[in-house]
Amino acid sequence: MPRAKPATYVTNLTHFEGALEPGSNAPAPAKKLAKFFDELVRIASRESLGTIRTDVRCFTKPARRACSGRIVTARSRDREDIAWACPSCGTNGVIHHWQGSAADLRRYARPEVEVLKKPSGAGAVFEGAWRITEMELWDREAIDLLGPGYFRFDLDGTGECQFIAVRGGLDCRYGERDGQPLVEFSWQGDDDGTEVCGRGWAVIEVDGRLNGRIFFHDGDDSSFVASRSK
Ligand SMILES: [Zn+2]
Repeated sequence: MPRAKPATYVTNLTHFEGALEPGSNAPAPAKKLAKFFDELVRIASRESLGTIRTDVRCFTKPARRACSGRIVTARSRDREDIAWACPSCGTNGVIHHWQGSAADLRRYARPEVEVLKKPSGAGAVFEGAWRITEMELWDREAIDLLGPGYFRFDLDGTGECQFIAVRGGLDCRYGERDGQPLVEFSWQGDDDGTEVCGRGWAVIEVDGRLNGRIFFHDGDDSSFVASRSK
């Protein structure tokens, strides 16, 4: 059965104004959400720009069990809002109108540098583009048939890949294997006009390279190695 697409929350923080004040008569679920967004804004605003793996727990209950994910936030120079995502279930959103709220801690922020916290074993370490350098079944020329072969992982749990005549979209789950960051994904795409799909996995090795295997449903499978794109 296909998994439901993760929900996206667009939040105007001013709508929660007062919910956390003592004596507030906001209903409990609203207070819980208000607290969730308040914490994310406090962390993301104080930490200046960049991607942060927070300790804030995801609030979703897929299959009626609380999601074990911890939220990742992202804030960039050219965007007003704070983006967030749960690496486990893919729930994600953006928070706007947070500037000037009680949770806006920019006055304590470090100087304008991109802060990139090393998350431990979570999706954020995979975020971005990876250039495919080797594949078991195809040589470099074949890999780059449509342009440089790559994998790309996005904070919202999706991604892309391109190699030989294949272009595909990824649906990713992050975790750890033997202490190494692990991504497992299903993928779906196009191979020179034919619809293809499959699954795959990859780990980030100690040397920083991405090492994995991609499987075509009812077809080939191949190992691959990729390096961070500049
Ligand atoms: Zn979650």
